[in-house]
Amino acid sequence: MSSTEALSARAIEVLTDLVAFDTTSRGSNLELIGYVEGLLSAYGIESRRVPNREGTKANLMATIGPMVEGGVVLSGHTDVVPVDGQAWTSDPWVVTRRDGRLYGRGVADMKSFLALSLAALPRFAEAPLKRPIHLAFSYDEEVGCLGAPFLIEQIAATLPKPAAVLVGEPTDMQAIAGHKGITSYKVTVTGKEAHSSLTHLGASANMAAIRLLSNLLKLSEDLAAGADPASPFTPRGASLTVGQMGGGTAVNILARECVFIFDLRTEPGMDARALLNGFFAEVRKVDAELKARFPECGVEVERRSLTPAFAPEDGGVAEAMARRLAGDNGPVRVAPYAAEAGQFQEAGFSTVICGPGSIDQAHQPDEFIEISQIERGAAFMERLVEMMSED
Ligand SMILES: [Zn+2]
Repeated sequence: MSSTEALSARAIEVLTDLVAFDTTSRGSNLELIGYVEGLLSAYGIESRRVPNREGTKANLMATIGPMVEGGVVLSGHTDVVPVDGQAWTSDPWVVTRRDGRLYGRGVADMKSFLALSLAALPRFAEAPLKRPIHLAFSYDEEVGCLGAPFLIEQIAATLPKPAAVLVGEPTDMQAIAGHKGITSYKVTVTGKEAHSSLTHLGASANMAAIRLLSNLLKLSEDLAAGADPASPFTPRGASLTVGQMGGGTAVNILARECVFIFDLRTEPGMDARALLNGFFAEVRKVDAELKARFPECGVEVERRSLTPAFAPEDGGVAEAMARRLAGDNGPVRVAPYAAEAGQFQEAGFSTVICGPGSIDQAHQPDEFIEISQIERGAAFMERLVEMMSED
């Protein structure tokens, strides 16, 4: 067995352990974090938790090699999306091998990258590293990249400045140099109940919400029509959709409440808030009209997530590094989905996304990764050790 094959085999063992922890974002990731701490301490590597406020979840950071500048951060999220209501052929929490593939929740997005980083620990620990390899594992990526900001703050405050951040989201081991940002809002319209025949005695939250939703529909059409034809993104430009909505209790009652959540995706350089100026003007108008009739009625808007876009860097150190490690000579690529890369970049770190598996399988029932992707990931880790050991 070659050393790369041995590293792949070990990564699959670690992946099997990682997948067995149900780290759906709504629950805790602490059991998985405890397991990772165990692996690190077995090689004498110290690690540090960066917990959430409630203490129910934690990011984890660790450094292998000398505490000097110029290191690389291997960044990955520990949480996965739910399996509820999905038709799985095999148990999603048990890694199952079929036809050259591994099946299980999170095998593509993105526990294989974590597994490869952990499987490589003995190589990292034995190598004469000149520059450090930092591990940065986060929580709550899948629900709006909520955990990473605390982790990034600690990296910036406590580590000698790393040269590059490699975010191991599934990209088929190709360097991705940009992604869109996400802005999402929850809108709650409060009306006043009355019999549906007596519209003068109440205010329907649903009817008021339709005005706001119409505004968003128009905005989504305008954004699509006005997209820059030269945009590298697919779809081009900004996009907007209402992912969830619900209101009212019966056909013959004026709805007391209507709630909807919308999601705006923007390219680097776009100002999401400015794009929504017209919508917020309509919110203020509808709110004032409702309150004029019934003071307890109105519209409330709550921001749910604000994940910055990730812009291709001119002569980006991280992208060049990932290309060299992955043997990637292709064109500059960008992704429509968002990840933690924009947050790292915003904090001043040169960043790239590059990891095993395909985004096409992420979040799907029967999520899988080709074993060949794990093998490429293993070769990537071996080249990383060499690169960080060079003078
Ligand atoms: Zn992911």
